[in-house]
Amino acid sequence: MATDGRTKRSQSICAPASASMEALAAPMETTPAPRRRPAARSQSARITGGRSVRHRRQQQQQQLDRETRTRYSSEPRLAEAETPPQVRRQASARRRPPPGQHNQPRRSNAFLDVPRTQHQAEEEPDEDSYRLRTFNITQKGGIVNRGDSFRRRRSRSGSLAPSSPAQSAPESTERRPVACHRVAMVGAPGVGKTALVSQFQTSECINAYDRQRDPDGTDQKVSIMLNGEESELYFVNCTTTKEEIERAEPPDAFVVIYSVVDKASFQKAEQELIRLMDFDMLRARPALLVGNKIDLARSRAVSTQDGKCLACTYKAKFIEVSVGINHNVDELLVGILNQIRLKRQQYQESGRESSPAHWYKSRGVVRASMKARQMFTWIFGKEDSKFKNCENLNVL
Ligand code: GDP
Ligand code: MG
Repeated sequence: MATDGRTKRSQSICAPASASMEALAAPMETTPAPRRRPAARSQSARITGGRSVRHRRQQQQQQLDRETRTRYSSEPRLAEAETPPQVRRQASARRRPPPGQHNQPRRSNAFLDVPRTQHQAEEEPDEDSYRLRTFNITQKGGIVNRGDSFRRRRSRSGSLAPSSPAQSAPESTERRPVACHRVAMVGAPGVGKTALVSQFQTSECINAYDRQRDPDGTDQKVSIMLNGEESELYFVNCTTTKEEIERAEPPDAFVVIYSVVDKASFQKAEQELIRLMDFDMLRARPALLVGNKIDLARSRAVSTQDGKCLACTYKAKFIEVSVGINHNVDELLVGILNQIRLKRQQYQESGRESSPAHWYKSRGVVRASMKARQMFTWIFGKEDSKFKNCENLNVL
């Protein structure tokens, strides 16, 4: 063993007072590892890994606490590490869809993204049930969509079509008769009539940017529960009001639609309103002027003010919507039903003969007066009360 004077000196410096010379010499024989600097070894409080004893104890205590908590707490555990691999494999196999349900389309839902199974797809358009859209109108005039539900249809006798005799008895006593209204959707081709009616059917956002296929008659019905009273709206799409006016029983409401990016469709809307006025259709029925496709803001050809001016001239209500982004569609649907109910109520209370005498003013005079109001709004930047009123679908 080579023992030069320098080694001896450094060992004696760093050795504790109780250590004997044999004890010091023994490790040197067995471990030929490079010698460390005495200063580092002399820090006896610091043990391996550069951590203190207190730190290690803390760590051990924390680990113990964690184990105790996971063992006795009621919280769900991520048992990935504890689960044996064969059990884990079984669980993942259970989660995987059965072979028949691969690549099922996922239903777009505001709250949950639930995969649509074949079983559900067949279940929804059940012949005996229908979708009921429910809305409430708040005190400030806002609309609250309370969601869609499925209800069992009534039989012809007025009772519900029962799924089982036991179920039918209590339900049939609950329901009141449903008022059914016919609504004419009038407008030039391509303004979005079919897309609009499709969006009326559901709270889910449809893809209106695809060309809509005209559905058959049964799909044009929308059942609405508004402020606790159920009504059914039956929509009829038509390019002109001519046929609807000539019917023995004309529609209960006229919705005249134009596209804000198509000036010709706006002119067509005006022609239809003139016709409705000439045939005395609007005294007992509401008319709503609707500007669609406002999402195409850069291509806009008809201003909002022009739309309001036209609506006010013909005592129609006015709203701008976009079926593409589902903007104001619920407001329009509720507005149509609201206007029908309000107009009926007014008509029943006042009677046909006592309708306002000033109803028919010269159209030219009214139009000129509206233009003047529009100019006033444009110059002073303050909206005229008449213009404001035509946008409120909750009042007549
Ligand atoms: P209809 O002929 O009046 O029944 O019109 P459609 O409902 O068939 O709609 C015609 C086309 O207009 C559709 O294919 C849609 O692409 C488009 N469309 C409908 N609504 C909107 C909308 O709000 N925004 C945009 N950008 N396009 C729309
Ligand atoms: Mg169509």
